Amino acid sequence: MLLTACLRRCARLLHWIPVTIVIMVVMWSYYAYVVHFCWILLSCSTQRVVFLCLFHVCFGMFSWSFWKTLSTPPSSPSVEFQLSSDSLLYEQERGGMEKSQILLEISQKLSVHTRTAAGAIRFCHHCQLIKPDRCHHCSVCQMCVLKMDHHCPWLNNCIGFSNYKFFMLFLLYSLLYCLLIVATVTPTFIQLWLGKLFDSCVKLHVLFLTLVSAMFAVTLCFLLFFHIWLLASNKTTLEWLSVPFFVDGPASEAFDVGVRANFLRVFGKNKSLWPFPVFSSQGNGQSFPLRWQMSSHSPSVMNGNGHCAMEGSVVSPEGVSVTIAVDD
Ligand SMILES: [Zn+2]
Ligand SMILES: [Zn+2]
Repeated sequence: MLLTACLRRCARLLHWIPVTIVIMVVMWSYYAYVVHFCWILLSCSTQRVVFLCLFHVCFGMFSWSFWKTLSTPPSSPSVEFQLSSDSLLYEQERGGMEKSQILLEISQKLSVHTRTAAGAIRFCHHCQLIKPDRCHHCSVCQMCVLKMDHHCPWLNNCIGFSNYKFFMLFLLYSLLYCLLIVATVTPTFIQLWLGKLFDSCVKLHVLFLTLVSAMFAVTLCFLLFFHIWLLASNKTTLEWLSVPFFVDGPASEAFDVGVRANFLRVFGKNKSLWPFPVFSSQGNGQSFPLRWQMSSHSPSVMNGNGHCAMEGSVVSPEGVSVTIAVDD
């Protein structure tokens, strides 16, 4: 028991290694840009002030969104989704059919539409709860995460309903940070490359700074455009990898309610909050408007919670509790 607890604690500490690497690289880039590039290499004081102002705006927004994505804990389903008093009844039943029936009855009181590929109610055996739509169990965080996108090892946190806006801003500001460095340092980089400037220590820092920033900018560009596409079609990375199932089968576009509405679901209606890592997402992360609910021709009914639901559609627990830690 003691050994297992120690191993778990060590594993938890190991998860912080990638975060420490990211922080060290960022700190070094700050030092290389401010001290070696702006302070030592730039001779024009106006240029120095302009570059330092732009750099600190980018660095400030990047650090703020990075910290918010890293420190915001993932949201878990509310108590209505937990079995609580029904758990004894559920555990006493031996047959799979009886258990499924119990889950189906409980789920009908909740606003859940997704199911497993086998058509069963999605259920997490670790957390003993019925999974809301788009919720998945994270094996690293050891909890069910609302609207889970993926577990990011570089941030040692789950990206989901509570911090997806922060994550998008983190990608945007880190790309701007890298692009600003590349754009301002490149002329000096060329001079150093051609051997016109000779300080070897400065040369090394500035050369590495340009190369590392350019490399990160390319990677971040792909990642940001991928997540913009996911945001525009209202998909999570997990839903892109594995299409969600409903009563009538799989539906990859189920949560897509239009590009503008999809954007507002994450960034909210208050435009003044869009550029800042302040929570402004719409909804509670447990129920989501469905594409077919938007159509006036679809036969829809209101369920017990006042949410609009497709006629005959009910919830969905999963036999196996999923969750892949998807790499950023
Ligand atoms: Zn769980
Ligand atoms: Zn996680």
